[in-house]
Amino acid sequence: MAKPVVAIVGRPNVGKSTIFNRIVGERISIVEDIPGITRDRIYSSAEWLTHDFNIIDTGGIEIGDEPFLEQIRQQAEIAIDEADVIIFMTNGREGVTSADEQVAKILFRSSKPIVLAVNKVDNPDMKNQIYDFYSLGFGEPYPISGSHGLGLGEMLDAVTKSFKPQDEVKYGDEVIKFSLIGRPNVGKSSLVNALLGEDRVIVSDIAGTTRDAIDSPYKYDSQEYVIIDTAGMRKKGKVYETTEKYSVLRALRAIERSDVVLVVIDAEEGIIDQDKKIAGYAHDAGRAVIMVVNKWDAVDKDDKTMDRFEKKLRDHFQFLDYAPVVFLSALTKKRIHTLLPVINMASENHSMRVQSSVLNEVVMDAVAMNPTPTDHGKRLKIFYATQVAVKPPTFVIFVNEPELMHFSYERFLENRIREAFGFEGTPIRLIARARK
Ligand code: GDP
Repeated sequence: MAKPVVAIVGRPNVGKSTIFNRIVGERISIVEDIPGITRDRIYSSAEWLTHDFNIIDTGGIEIGDEPFLEQIRQQAEIAIDEADVIIFMTNGREGVTSADEQVAKILFRSSKPIVLAVNKVDNPDMKNQIYDFYSLGFGEPYPISGSHGLGLGEMLDAVTKSFKPQDEVKYGDEVIKFSLIGRPNVGKSSLVNALLGEDRVIVSDIAGTTRDAIDSPYKYDSQEYVIIDTAGMRKKGKVYETTEKYSVLRALRAIERSDVVLVVIDAEEGIIDQDKKIAGYAHDAGRAVIMVVNKWDAVDKDDKTMDRFEKKLRDHFQFLDYAPVVFLSALTKKRIHTLLPVINMASENHSMRVQSSVLNEVVMDAVAMNPTPTDHGKRLKIFYATQVAVKPPTFVIFVNEPELMHFSYERFLENRIREAFGFEGTPIRLIARARK
């Protein structure tokens, strides 16, 4: 099921990112280990009691050189467009300001549930300062303190109480859900049009398709597909839609709902860090990944150009060594037909289950070939391996002491498993666990 989305809105300096970090907690991701890439802390999954949700810090989305009030206005609009519940954050030390009133005016126009939080209420004596905030018209203000971590529980109770059952369409398991991600102008929407065949948008009889207009379902060769968040790719003309962080946000939401992610790269422009960043999210989320090099028509080629480009891609995207690369042109439609078979393959591998007996043979052969590592005279012992999940394929390896499983040995085992079973297009996960 899709997780509800919570957005934090408010003028600068009320403490939005402090609260965001408090709610999100420490989440470690591989993206942060890739040199040159720092994770934008504007979007993350989070939990409160039994509730899972995603949270956005709209304050982290800067919108060009717009003046201050225009920035806040657009951030509030992003929250209204993207969130199921909005936390409207203010500052108890400064009281109600005119900028707060501006934000309130915009939020009033939305029908989304709004929880009013008054931050920087660091001790109980300050509690009577919150009464002014009733004037904003959003009911009871929740006093919180980001720096002391106070009041967050009550505020999050109010937030999660407002979650409605998600009425999003669930596509069947037989449907391949994929999304196209990449920075603006790489040709995502051109590629969608090419795939769907211009004006003959084939709406198959996949249940619920008419309700959810943001996706494009279609059928080809008796296989059903859904292109996730087609609407998000087709620009609607709002100012903030061209900003980098907003497009990242949209991509993250699409990734979450997809099985297969196509990372679209512009052959003319080459590879930039943002491409890497978004691809890193897809990898982190455990989705199957395909690299699509678009605008191949616009490149001067000889018989080595493709190999050279692929090598460059491989250097840049080392963590995606399993991802196939497809070269095509959405404009001339050349090589377009090569894409769907690769999507089918990646999707199949993403949900592949392997037999335990064969898996254990592969692992034991690997150990015989390359002895397990030792640490302070203690050797890692591998007892048994088993596949515990698909999407992505996940393996638990029972060992004497999980700390003895070094990254390089894990990598070696992963490569052996890949050599034996394929798994092209999908990340796989290995978890070392102590045998009970
Ligand atoms: P999006 O922002 O990623 O959805 O990109 P668009 O699909 O809007 O394409 C951006 C621009 O690139 C448009 O002017 C397209 O005509 C052009 N474009 C898209 N695909 C190709 C292609 O394969 N070759 C060439 N030469 N141009 C393309």
